[in-house]
Amino acid sequence: MGKIRVGILGATGTVGQRFLQLLEHHPQFTVTALAASDRSQGKPYAAACVWRLPGAVPDAVRGLVVQAPEPPLDCDIVFSSLPSDIAGSVETRFARAGYRVVTNSSPHRMDDAVPLLIPEVNPGHLALLDACKGTGGGFIVANPNCSTVMIALALAPLAARFGVAAVAATTLQAISGAGYPGVASLDITDNVVPFIAEEEEKIERETRKILGFLDASRVTPATFAVSAQCHRVNVVDGHLAAVRVKLARAADPAELREAFAAFTGLPQELRLPSAPERPILVRDEPDRPQPRLDRDAGGGMSISVGRIARDGVLGHRFVALSHNTIRGAAGAAILNAELLLAKGYLEGP
Ligand code: NAP
Repeated sequence: MGKIRVGILGATGTVGQRFLQLLEHHPQFTVTALAASDRSQGKPYAAACVWRLPGAVPDAVRGLVVQAPEPPLDCDIVFSSLPSDIAGSVETRFARAGYRVVTNSSPHRMDDAVPLLIPEVNPGHLALLDACKGTGGGFIVANPNCSTVMIALALAPLAARFGVAAVAATTLQAISGAGYPGVASLDITDNVVPFIAEEEEKIERETRKILGFLDASRVTPATFAVSAQCHRVNVVDGHLAAVRVKLARAADPAELREAFAAFTGLPQELRLPSAPERPILVRDEPDRPQPRLDRDAGGGMSISVGRIARDGVLGHRFVALSHNTIRGAAGAAILNAELLLAKGYLEGP
């Protein structure tokens, strides 16, 4: 079987570049179409894009001419990393035109018909797409917000073993999470900014959808309360979350450690190309995880968890860390597409 042809919407951006880097040698997908704003349209990618990742622009896309993010594009599926103010309507038009849209942007994440997917955590939510399976019809699948993904991944084994009753998360988020050029250097140097627009609300609602239950044609969110406070810090890549959790039943911190360390899911069972061997790596050192040291664990697809301890207020606490443009964005979307392929959702009529 030939490779599946992929289009990238927002291809010149922070996440778009990461998509191209991660797809350069992908065994199942090949990039055949690129789209961005009118600033870039009509130019070969290498001329339109200021490449800001280590290494060079992948050879196969250097000469591809950047197009408008509108159907038709010469591809079978699209990955979307468009700004949220335009992503919603553009993605709807692609889905209506019959494209399978795998988005990293936020507008459709809470739609009833859209699985908000972490393949290790809630692969069953793909059943929301069963009506389209095999019809050749378009659909949208979303990955979560870049901080939600590590919080929900870390909570998944705790919810399964002990039940979760309440969660309070405080994030320290990297500058690249704001895209390029992101936060002005004079605002973030020697500083912490205790505000990221809509981030706290996204973590609170998305976590409950991901850990919710599929019934009939929608997901009923998990009932536990989630409280998030988000901060932008002077780190280039790697979001960190200090999490306090109230469990439904008593547990020793050693049991939490074992639940994190033993956790694996369907991507590992199916050996999907982007699946890390361990979705959650436990760090036992007292000063880990740290963004600079741990963000690239598992090729950026593992989250790292440490500082597991009892907490005087909610019962237990831990610190989680993940790479925001890999597990938090492009890598998450690619893993979603690999699961869609493995489960037959990318087949035609
Ligand atoms: P970015 O660096 O600002 O890149 C934005 C991309 O969208 C560029 O390719 C840009 O093209 C294109 N674009 C901007 N305005 C457009 C328009 N009017 N029409 C068509 N294309 C347009 O942003 P980013 O960080 O990659 O984020 C992209 C999306 O991913 C956002 O929705 C963001 O919330 C989400 N996200 C980001 C992260 C992260 O860690 N950065 C993580 C998770 C989710 P030009 O170069 O031509 O302007």
